Amino acid sequence: MRKSIATVCLSGSLEDKLHACADAGFDGIEIFEPDLVVTDRSPEEIRALADRLGLSLDLYQPFRDFEGVRPDQLEDNLRRARARFETMRRLGVDTVLVCSNVATATTGSDEVAAEQLRRLGDLAASYGVRVAYEALAWGRYVDDYRRSWEIARLADHEAVGVCLDSFHILSRGHDPAAIEEIPGDKIFFAQLADAPALTLDVLSWSRHHRLFPGEGAWDLGRFVTHLVRAGYRGPLSLEVFNDVFRQTDTGRTAQHALRSLVWLEDRAARLLAEEGGGEVGAALDRIADVDEPTGYDYVEIKAEDTGEVEVVLDQLGLSFRGQHRTKPVRLWSAGQARIVLNEQHARDLEPHLAGVGLGVADAAAASDRARALAVRAVPRRTQAGELDLAGFVAPSGLEVFLNDRRTETRSGVEPAWAAEFDHGRPGHTREIAGIDHVNVSHGWDAHDEAVLFYTSVLGLQKPTATEAAGPQGLVRSQVMRTGSGGVRISLNVAPLDVSHPQHIALACTDIFAVARRAEDRGLPRVPVPDNYYDDLRARFGLDDATLGRLRDHQLMYDRSAAGEFWHFYTPRVGSVCFEVLQRTGGYDVYAGDNTPVLLAAQDRLDRASRRG
Ligand code: MG
Ligand code: MG
Repeated sequence: MRKSIATVCLSGSLEDKLHACADAGFDGIEIFEPDLVVTDRSPEEIRALADRLGLSLDLYQPFRDFEGVRPDQLEDNLRRARARFETMRRLGVDTVLVCSNVATATTGSDEVAAEQLRRLGDLAASYGVRVAYEALAWGRYVDDYRRSWEIARLADHEAVGVCLDSFHILSRGHDPAAIEEIPGDKIFFAQLADAPALTLDVLSWSRHHRLFPGEGAWDLGRFVTHLVRAGYRGPLSLEVFNDVFRQTDTGRTAQHALRSLVWLEDRAARLLAEEGGGEVGAALDRIADVDEPTGYDYVEIKAEDTGEVEVVLDQLGLSFRGQHRTKPVRLWSAGQARIVLNEQHARDLEPHLAGVGLGVADAAAASDRARALAVRAVPRRTQAGELDLAGFVAPSGLEVFLNDRRTETRSGVEPAWAAEFDHGRPGHTREIAGIDHVNVSHGWDAHDEAVLFYTSVLGLQKPTATEAAGPQGLVRSQVMRTGSGGVRISLNVAPLDVSHPQHIALACTDIFAVARRAEDRGLPRVPVPDNYYDDLRARFGLDDATLGRLRDHQLMYDRSAAGEFWHFYTPRVGSVCFEVLQRTGGYDVYAGDNTPVLLAAQDRLDRASRRG
């Protein structure tokens, strides 16, 4: 279907917004009236610019506080409307959004509202304009789309229909299924926004916290299936009021927005196909199948000098597996945990988490999907005889490589690319099983975009977000994971101007053995304060012997109804550190209560090292 976006979603001047929407690949835009009022371009110039860019102007919005008013107010409202319709004629826009009255309505009578909308319909028709009536979630009398449709139905005018906005419907908890009872040709416009689950008045929630589809708590794919089943074939348009997106780069946000619509159409088409609605689903554009990753192939740390990281890997019990045949890249591993150390194009860079390699069932399909979502590819220079892994850049800058499981050798024990490394020694460590998760951090302005990247490109799920208090600010965390847990990536929003450590968590089967060996080899630890162990005693009723063992090895602990969890952290090298963890039973989370202890301890280490 046609893809559109309200100019209010973006930063910049109206002209900037038009250019960015066209560059991103939108078909059309909604003109948000305040954006027109502040520009020094005439409506004719905006229309000409849109024409030149190949953008249609799909909607003029909003027209407020029209219906349910006293007769003298109605005459003034019709005067206002006439002036707007003149502007719309100059712009060449034929649909106006009329949202339900918030301020001036004196009656909740559906008949009065319908009669007044009929008068508006007459006026609109004389300008060739259609009125799309929208129930705002905070409308004075009309705050439910089923009621706005009832009023539009009573108005019984060919120029009067409804605008359905997912925010106003889903924020009120209204069932969107009744959309299918509205004739498709009376749905004049559809606006789409997701939102996080918040306990907040709907007006503040709407004005500041809307998200692009796929980033919040709602099932927008399901919402679109109702529109399509109703017979709606107009634009799918994004209307996302969000404080962050209104200040991020215009072009980047427009691309981000388009990615969410591409994802959304595909998701809705798949839902319809599953329900045997494939025929109506043909109206929707599909992209290549989601190929949920099966697990981590490797994690890549990049630095001018990775020597310090190698010391830590050796202390943790990983083995040096070899040097790459043609590049300054080295491989360390234990079990299925493979750490690639890359000194290529890394001048002046301190150690940081640069990439992850994920196994997928069909790398070609997964790459097609990423390309359809307009994700930036990693430029690769491969030498003859080397595997060409497709790589994509996540919004935080992390490079995500996809390795086709079908190219595996050695009966799935090791990916084929591992054979490109020579002159190492085989590993002996049995306790380290693989990579449990990686923990990346980015600024507040990249977070929602990153969530969409992992849901749309890789089909990862997003369990409830958490937050942890650190000495320099609150750290918001969103884990993105596969259903099986084979891939988990924790996305952290670091406090302003704080370099939050990224970490690589290694899963092991005997944390005491790993800790003892690391101690024997001289690995320093992030020290855990005694108060923490007193707290553990209070929370879990652990006995002295158990607490003594945890304290001896500076381990942290957690327990849930499903099982137990032990872990420790290494001090960071550059901006990266390692976590070693052991899960038993069905323990499937991340000991969130321990995160503030880690953040405070890391902060003490950082201060001590600054003091020298
Ligand atoms: Mg709206
Ligand atoms: Mg962790």
